[in-house]
Amino acid sequence: MKIICIGRNYAEHAKELGNEIPENPVIFMKPDTAVLKKGSDFYIPEFSSDVHYELEVVLKISKGGKYIQEAHAASYFDEIAVGIDFTARDLQSELKSKGLPWELAKGFDGSAVISDFCKKKDFDLHNLSFTLLKNKTEVQNGNTSLMLFSPEKIIAFVSQYFTLKVGDLIFTGTPKGVGRVVENDILEAFLGGNKMLDLRIQ
Ligand code: MG
Repeated sequence: MKIICIGRNYAEHAKELGNEIPENPVIFMKPDTAVLKKGSDFYIPEFSSDVHYELEVVLKISKGGKYIQEAHAASYFDEIAVGIDFTARDLQSELKSKGLPWELAKGFDGSAVISDFCKKKDFDLHNLSFTLLKNKTEVQNGNTSLMLFSPEKIIAFVSQYFTLKVGDLIFTGTPKGVGRVVENDILEAFLGGNKMLDLRIQ
């Protein structure tokens, strides 16, 4: 199983980090060891003092394929979830400034938090709100209608480069409002008004 992630898929988030609006999806990957075990707390790694939450809608690939056309892409996934793409922002900034890949800042153990999956057909995927609360205060409130690249466009794009396999996951990017977590924070995530995640930071 591989985890493909999209960066800068919401204009307001690209802006808040001082990035340009991309012409093509910005892609990076996390290893399968990045998935946080269900029910576990998230431990801030010792190499960072500025770990950020990024709430995202996650797609689960249900059919393998390569060179998938956008018009057919919807049939390649039937479940969605919310996830948190934890990012060591201090390390990422350092890597970016040197022109180096981001993997150390994005792919560390526990950096991919994923809720249970829901049937895609139960939601309007192209107009779906998702929300993150930190210590009961709303910090991110996104809507998939604001994606620069839709789930179908993402699948068409990435499948030109990577064969998609059943069970692969795609993190579709975060809206504005990313920020730091500290010990004892509680994060709660909602998808279309349904509570999906509860997470304690250690
Ligand atoms: Mg992200």
